[in-house]
Amino acid sequence: MLSGQLRFPFLDLYSVNARYIDSLHMAASRVIDSGRYIGGEEVEAFNSDLAALCRAPHAVGVSNGLDALRLILEGYKQLGRLHEGDEVIVPANTYIASVLAITHAGLVPVPVDPDISTMNMSAATMKAAISSRTAAIMPVHLYGRVAWNNELAELANEYRLLVVEDAAQAIGAQAMSDGLYGSRMAGALGHAGAFSFYPTKNIGALGDAGAVVTHDTELAEVVNALANYGSDRRYHNIYTGFNCRLDPIQAAMIRAKLPDVTDANNRRAERASVYTSTISHPSVITPCVTPDCVWHQYVIRVTDKRRDEMAEYLHRNGVGTDIHYATPPHMQPCYSELGHGPLPVTELLASQILSLPVSDCTSTDDAAEIARIINRFK
Ligand SMILES: *Cc1c(COP(=O)(O)O)cnc(C)c1O
Repeated sequence: MLSGQLRFPFLDLYSVNARYIDSLHMAASRVIDSGRYIGGEEVEAFNSDLAALCRAPHAVGVSNGLDALRLILEGYKQLGRLHEGDEVIVPANTYIASVLAITHAGLVPVPVDPDISTMNMSAATMKAAISSRTAAIMPVHLYGRVAWNNELAELANEYRLLVVEDAAQAIGAQAMSDGLYGSRMAGALGHAGAFSFYPTKNIGALGDAGAVVTHDTELAEVVNALANYGSDRRYHNIYTGFNCRLDPIQAAMIRAKLPDVTDANNRRAERASVYTSTISHPSVITPCVTPDCVWHQYVIRVTDKRRDEMAEYLHRNGVGTDIHYATPPHMQPCYSELGHGPLPVTELLASQILSLPVSDCTSTDDAAEIARIINRFK
């Protein structure tokens, strides 16, 4: 949705990046002057910065979040842990990239309804979807809320499932329960996690970028090779790989912003808490508040079939909004053949959700004013 001349734009990437402008310029100059434009120290430094943040032994910078997910799945195929046609349980209310990665890797997505209050995968719907062909689950930390708990961990252990996190929206989020390896950071809870640094994410590059984080040394090696033509050393190809490398220029842009991740997430949480304490409209349900959420989006539900009316009203009053996502993957034309059970919660949510501005281009005063505008909706 274009923000144009709105008084409260949904997102303005220049103003989001303005606070980092000097470090971004310095980082860009460093890469330009280095003469090294693929791989090298900048990418290695990024890998260790991200691994440290996630408290995981390995991080591998790659081209984008979709490729990060796909490389994990392709990597586990190379390691014999996944096979063509295996089923992967995935929340139905996710961004299409989660599902694309599964089908690109020759695996079968099994979309499941989320819990309506957290809007994340629940153990109950996950358990009902487990079959003899289930090989993995893909928790998606939607809107920045960690989709992980002891019940999910127990199910994953009991059925020996690979846990591949889609942590694209949750950098810096800390889970409330331990992961499979004891680490509590989003992206390091399961066997491997994928991050995206798409410019609109909580920490965004100035272009496309992503990363794989893992506790699994073998997987880290395979992903590294697969992302670089399948080569383990120069001109020696052990896999029929891809070109999915992270550019040093993007590694440098992300490194300039990464030290701010905790503060940046805290600023989002402040705006979220202003919304939650100020919005009081009978047709609006505010999102649940849990300490494991980094508020990639602040998503309200507008009931009584009034969501579109509310969005138009807000736009008339200078407030930009967006919908994440109006059409779930299983209802997209490209997945018209995808088999799935009934998904009433996902379809209800798709008709009710509305994302409010929550980035650094919105102040807490702006959030209070936006909440008051919502409360005046007739
Ligand atoms: C952004 C996003 C992705 C894909 O990341 P890209 O870097 O855009 O490829 C995957 N999953 C989710 C949940 C996302 O929000």
